Amino acid sequence: MKNFILLFVLSLTINSIFAQKPQTSTIDPDKPKLVVGIVVDQMRFDYLTRFWDKYGNDGFKRLVNEGFNFKNNHFNYIPTYTAPGHTSIYTGTTPQNHGIIGNGWYNKFEKNEVYCTSDENVQSVGTNSSAGKMSPHRMISTTIGDENRLFTQMKGKTIGIGIKDRSAILPGGHTANAAYWFHGMDEGKWISSTYYMNKLPDWVQAFNKSRKATSYLKEWNSLADIETYSESGTDKNNFETGFSGRTTFPYNLAELAPKNGQFDLLKYTPFGNSITADFAIAALEGEKLGTDIFTDFLTVSFSSTDYIGHNFGVNSKEVQDAYMRLDKDLARLLKALDEKVGAGNYTLFLTSDHGGVDVPSYLQSVKIPAGYFEDKAFEDDLKAFVIEKFGSKDLIEMVSNYQIFLNYETLAKEKIEASNVEDAIAHFVLQKPQINRVFTRTQLEANDFSSGISCLVQKGFNQKRSGDVVFVLKPAIISYSKTGSTHGSGFSYDTHAPLIFFGKGIPHGDTSKRSEIIDIAPTISTILGISFPSASSGKPLYEMLDD
Ligand code: ZN
Ligand code: ZN
Ligand code: ZN
Repeated sequence: MKNFILLFVLSLTINSIFAQKPQTSTIDPDKPKLVVGIVVDQMRFDYLTRFWDKYGNDGFKRLVNEGFNFKNNHFNYIPTYTAPGHTSIYTGTTPQNHGIIGNGWYNKFEKNEVYCTSDENVQSVGTNSSAGKMSPHRMISTTIGDENRLFTQMKGKTIGIGIKDRSAILPGGHTANAAYWFHGMDEGKWISSTYYMNKLPDWVQAFNKSRKATSYLKEWNSLADIETYSESGTDKNNFETGFSGRTTFPYNLAELAPKNGQFDLLKYTPFGNSITADFAIAALEGEKLGTDIFTDFLTVSFSSTDYIGHNFGVNSKEVQDAYMRLDKDLARLLKALDEKVGAGNYTLFLTSDHGGVDVPSYLQSVKIPAGYFEDKAFEDDLKAFVIEKFGSKDLIEMVSNYQIFLNYETLAKEKIEASNVEDAIAHFVLQKPQINRVFTRTQLEANDFSSGISCLVQKGFNQKRSGDVVFVLKPAIISYSKTGSTHGSGFSYDTHAPLIFFGKGIPHGDTSKRSEIIDIAPTISTILGISFPSASSGKPLYEMLDD
């Protein structure tokens, strides 16, 4: 009995000693220390499967073999461009709600074309050029990073990184501590904007001083013997644009740089991804990410895949080589995360911002319906029709992103009903052989579409910012040069994107059930136990969370 009392007193004393210690672990121990969002620009889902045998064990394969693979993941709106893509991933909703309706769009209130992240009210940081005059001010909702900042009383950090300004800025949201993007030309540096800071932190300055960019102006040859690249077409063909001066391996970048935008050339090679990985790894250290009790966010966008896809096309040797090399950069990033944050301490997802279509002239060569749409000729025809029909040349204010904007002042002055003009234009537009569908503002505002192309159009249609008639081209018809390719449609080749979750809180598995890009943010919110982004319309991916 005496011993028991002694033990009891002792344990009380021990408990009180521990109770007086500063509290360092009051947060949920199941929360990751860091969330890493990786977006591979223009990565089609089939790049995972087509090049599978060429990947090593520590990059894409590691994510799939240890993580959870959503094999039927799609963008659920049109247009599938970079800025709407990145914004939809991190806001958990579509342009209808987050307001980023394109990379750029016609601003009908100010009557000018605007770029998604341009901001005249801020200044460049780290460059004398205007490339840093950027901010997320046109995005009207919060991102998951914003919600994490609000939840942690601004103690959890957010850092956004990407070669493209929009891919660095939009994912981080409004409260990001920093966004950094690559400025090529004759500088080859990572820069930012006064929206975030007044000068680059020491670690960024040191990175820029190291002249890493210069070291990548080397030879780009195929990683392995090109004869073994059986998953892609011939290196020399009529379907790719190539660089000014050369279209086949090997590419001597130092020699090509002067005629191809100096350091901007790096963006068009796999080394643009490598320097992004280098910079992201430097950020882990420089920003001490994932080292305290407050969950941090690191968003990384690998965009060289997009530049290479546009330049050489989906079926090119160059695209295959870019993915084989990205696989190695990914492995490097994962290794750095394991070392600096700790394996099992971070949660990561990898997806893309849109897919891409095979070069239409290549598709035609193998008898698949495809082709090209001439914007200028279409606009001229449309204007001639409107003059003939309504007797006024000013009714069409702008044609932009496959949307026709009517001039409301002219409509009022001429006392013409907007819906009459919309209907007449819709009828005219649908006569064009390359146009498959057309929708008017009146239709989109009066209906709630739940499936098919009409639903994708509606989810990309922002009532305030979009135009008055929206048209959709047929599959594999693009408005582009006859070489290289692009994206932007609501067809599978553009909507089907990889989605893999990996790391803390993620079971191993896969599913072929449909998921949508807007589900990513609510899923991360659920893992963290924080609010969904303000305009979020996706759902947590319970197939994985309840596994
Ligand atoms: Zn993109
Ligand atoms: Zn080639
Ligand atoms: Zn692109």
